Amino acid sequence: MSEFLDQCRHILGWSHVLTEAHDTHPYLNDWRKRTQGTAIAVLRPGNSQEVAQITQLCHQHRIPIVPQGGNTGLVQGGIPDQTGTAVLLSLRRLNRVRQIDVANLTMTVEAGCTLQQLQTLADQANCFFPLSLASEGSCTIGGNLSTNAGGTAVLRYGNARDLCLGLEVVTPQGELWDGLRSLRKDNTGYDLKNLYIGAEGSLGIITAAVVKLFPKPNSRVTALVALNSASAALALLNRMQNLSGTNLCAFELISEYSLELVQQLLPELTPIFQENFPYYTLLEVASHENFDTLQTQFQEHLETCLQDELLSDVAIAMNEKQSADFWKIRESISEAQAKQGRNVKHDISLPSSIIPQFIERAQTALHQQFPSSRLVCFGHLGDGNLHFNVYPPTDSKAEEFEMIETRINRCVHDLVHRFNGSISAEHGIGVLKREELQRYASELELRLMRQIKAALDPLNLMNPGKLL
Ligand SMILES: Cc1cc2nc3c(=O)[nH]c(=O)nc-3n(C[C@H](O)[C@H](O)[C@H](O)COP(=O)(O)OP(=O)(O)OC[C@H]3O[C@@H](n4cnc5c(N)ncnc54)[C@H](O)[C@@H]3O)c2cc1C
Repeated sequence: MSEFLDQCRHILGWSHVLTEAHDTHPYLNDWRKRTQGTAIAVLRPGNSQEVAQITQLCHQHRIPIVPQGGNTGLVQGGIPDQTGTAVLLSLRRLNRVRQIDVANLTMTVEAGCTLQQLQTLADQANCFFPLSLASEGSCTIGGNLSTNAGGTAVLRYGNARDLCLGLEVVTPQGELWDGLRSLRKDNTGYDLKNLYIGAEGSLGIITAAVVKLFPKPNSRVTALVALNSASAALALLNRMQNLSGTNLCAFELISEYSLELVQQLLPELTPIFQENFPYYTLLEVASHENFDTLQTQFQEHLETCLQDELLSDVAIAMNEKQSADFWKIRESISEAQAKQGRNVKHDISLPSSIIPQFIERAQTALHQQFPSSRLVCFGHLGDGNLHFNVYPPTDSKAEEFEMIETRINRCVHDLVHRFNGSISAEHGIGVLKREELQRYASELELRLMRQIKAALDPLNLMNPGKLL
């Protein structure tokens, strides 16, 4: 091992080969603090060539690699296991923007750029990069593409996959593939980039990407709406899609208990409505019109919905500050939940049309088994994606959590499967959902995935034990 580490130091320099526990600790713990891995070392290359050289070296020594970006992943995909046989490869130093082509509306960026860095740079170029997640200050574009991240703007712009035109990738053998094409049309054989997107680092290491930019909207208006049921939320979504068309860019569901937890976390928050409602939605429209025109139009649309009794109450943000306050509510739900204690998380997707029926059926099934369990249901309703999280019964003991978690998972995921939904809408499989993938994917799907993995990474050196 010492010969291997010396060779790593020769490639990267001493300061970028971390072996001391106090240096490696932040890289080896997952965001939710549920697992801690062990690694031979944390390696911090500074450019694509160094990534390729290190990967060649690992291939030669048969040492597995766990790629990591911002370490905000929620399924433990970027953390090594406890055997201490792998290296953790942090891509965060690859943080240069190689090119912004405003005329082509594209940007070529290295994998370790944070999402927020890309949004800011796009804005400075008078363009817009729409991918947006609550973790955007820390997550990296390499991680976003490797997990095919979703977030709050999928309704209008699609997920990370839809925003990527080209990739640069280091293969498990240490070759550097330059697929950095900035073309919107390219039908030259298999679409290799789409194999690496969403592969969670199991097929290769993304070192750079070409992402799409968009003309910057002139104005955006946000509203918080109170509703009597999940069916009302779906009816409102359909009506607003008809009224606002592609101006509708976010439609987020927030259940009553989700809001209650946020209010406990942020007591300074002024209550938006006089009374409590079973559901709320956060809606946003954006367009190239000026703010006043867009706001008036949005207000008229929401008034029509109010008259038709599709919604119970509405608050429209009058300025950027109010809009930010509404978003803060939505974006604080994860933190508020964490403060409330351990809960069983699900990141599911279903056809939007089925969601109200699913919520009702799942709630009934859960309450039959665990009468005092509590549900925190929120998410990107516009994309059919729910974070359907369940607090175990209040009287259950800490040591019973894993057993309860398995039973709750079975209850929720079986129903998702019955409705032809997905057990992982946007967070990926990692370690946490690996057994669930084996349970619900078809034999053929699993076999094809294993064949792809074996063809590209026959020695199983890329993020072993994740996804498959
Ligand atoms: C508060 C909070 C809110 C979130 N909200 C959302 C949300 O709305 N939507 C959503 O989709 N996700 C969300 N996430 C999850 C997470 O932020 C995303 O999955 C994000 O894309 C991960 O990026 P990262 O750079 O942190 O990747 P990491 O966590 O470092 O890694 C994630 C996976 O990608 C692999 N990987 C990372 N970089 C590379 C690379 N360059 N090449 C190959 N493989 C790589 C890792 O091995 C791992 O398997 C949220 C997380 C938090 C903490």
